[in-house]
Amino acid sequence: MAVKEKILVIGASGQIGVELTMALRKIYGNANVIASDLREQNPLLEGTGPYVSLDVMNKEMLHVQVIRQNITQIYLLAAILSATGEKNPNLAWNLNMQGLLNVLDIAREEQLTKIYWPSSIAVFGPTSPKHNCPQQTIIEPITVYGISKYAGEFWCNYYHQRWGVDVRSLRYPGLISYKSAPGGGTTDYAVEIFSEAVEDKHYNCYLAEDTYLPMMYMPDAIRATIELMEAPAENISVHTSYNLAGISFSPGEIAASIQQYIPDFTIDYKPDYRQTIANSWPQSIDDSIAQKDWHWKPEYDLEKMTKDMLENVQKAYA
Ligand code: NAD
Repeated sequence: MAVKEKILVIGASGQIGVELTMALRKIYGNANVIASDLREQNPLLEGTGPYVSLDVMNKEMLHVQVIRQNITQIYLLAAILSATGEKNPNLAWNLNMQGLLNVLDIAREEQLTKIYWPSSIAVFGPTSPKHNCPQQTIIEPITVYGISKYAGEFWCNYYHQRWGVDVRSLRYPGLISYKSAPGGGTTDYAVEIFSEAVEDKHYNCYLAEDTYLPMMYMPDAIRATIELMEAPAENISVHTSYNLAGISFSPGEIAASIQQYIPDFTIDYKPDYRQTIANSWPQSIDDSIAQKDWHWKPEYDLEKMTKDMLENVQKAYA
C-alpha cells in the first residue's frame, strides 16, 4: 500500500515557503502539509492548514514534531541568504549547516521517504564559467552563503550514498514573486523594482545596469520543485543539487521591459556591496541534466513575467 505522505515545511513563512506550502496543500490536502517557521505564520497561510512554531536549530523539538505529527517528508527552506549572510557570516554558516544536518539526521533515524533542500547559483564563484555554467565545473564560492550551500550539497550526497536518504535539491537562480517579500538575497532588486515602479515610478538599483544574472519567476520555481520531488527515484542522477535555469537579464533589461507598461518609469544605478557578490556569479546556467532527467522546461520569459508581475502588483496597490 502507498505511504500516506505527511509533509513538514520548515521556513514556510518566507518568500518560497508561502507559495510552496500552498502548492503542496493543493496536492496532498491541507491537513497533510504542516507549515512551520521561527517567525509567526505568514498571513497568506492563515486558515489554509496547520502551522507550528519551530526552530530548526532545536533538533530535539524538531524530532518530537516529526514523530508526533507522523511526518514522512521535510521541505527545508530556513536559511540566511547571500546578502544578509555577508553581514553575519557566523549566523549564516551555523543556520545553513546545522539546520540541514539536523534534518538529514532525523530523516535517517526516522526513515523519512523524501527530503527537499534548495541550493543556489551562489555555489558558483568568479572562476566558474560566466555563460551556460555547467553542472560540474570549477566551483569556488566567495560568499559564506555560497560556501554553506556547496558544503550542504555534499552532505546531501553523503547521506544519500551512505544511508540511502532520498534527499533532492535544486540550485535555484534568483526568484521573483509578488506574494511574499524576498529575504535578503543579492537578486532581491528584481522583486523590489516592480513595487517601486508601481508605487513611485522610480527605482534606485543597487546593481549596475548591465549586471546579468540567472533568474526565475516563482511559478516556474514551484513547478520545478514539485516535478523534481515527484520524479521516480531512478531518474535522479544528481544527488548534490541540480542546475536549474529560467531567464537571464540585467537591471537595464528589466527596466526596459517595465517601461513598456509604465513609460514614465525611471531607474538610477548605485551599486553597493551586493555588486561584488553579483559579479562573482555566472550570467546564465546550463540545466541540460534537469531537462534530461525529469524533463524540466521553464514557462516564463522576461516579457511574460513582467506582464504577470505588474498585473498582480498593481492589484495589490489598487
Ligand atoms: P526567506 O528568508 O524568505 O525565508 C526563510 C524562512 O526561514 C523565513 O520565514 C525565516 O523566518 C525562516 N527561518 C529562519 N531561521 C529559522 C529557524 N532557525 N527555524 C525555522 N525557520 C527559520 O528565504 P527564501 O527566499 O524563501 O529561501 C528559501 C530557501 O531557498 C533557502 O534555502 C534559500 O537559500 C533558497 N534560495 C532562495 C533563492 C531566492 O531567490 N529566494 C534563491 C536561491 C536559493
